[in-house]
Amino acid sequence: MTVKAFWRHKDVFVHKLKTMLVTDSALKVAMAKAMTSVNNLSIKSADTGGHRAPVCIVCNSICDTLTLAWIERKTISHKRLLLIGPILPTSVREFYTYKGNGQQKFMDGLLLSPHASWKTVKRSKDNDRDAVDCFSCCKMCLDHLSKAW
Ligand SMILES: [Zn+2]
Repeated sequence: MTVKAFWRHKDVFVHKLKTMLVTDSALKVAMAKAMTSVNNLSIKSADTGGHRAPVCIVCNSICDTLTLAWIERKTISHKRLLLIGPILPTSVREFYTYKGNGQQKFMDGLLLSPHASWKTVKRSKDNDRDAVDCFSCCKMCLDHLSKAW
């Protein structure tokens, strides 16, 4: 079930849980666990203004709060030779092209997840001009890309 589907049907789940033979405290525990799971698998999206699953821009995997990191666009640019990938059919290459917010021309030739999220991160709280574009990325890919070359 997607995060969006969960939110759309949340009232149905609550109603189903209430009609089952459960205590109020068990219901609260179950809802708290469900909400924690949803929150661990979703982030507020600057692209849509809603919530979406954080997806690694490099490996296309869904991240949770333990594995989510943010990779700067300049890191992607510096490591672009690692992200060009093999020769693939055009349709496959187009599927793995990021076209969301923060996209720049150099990214067209790279194999990147189209489901990644974008945000700007301020390096200092006093200077708004010191913000950098970042994309959702798993810690493993960020770590490996940062160490490569
Ligand atoms: Zn990754």
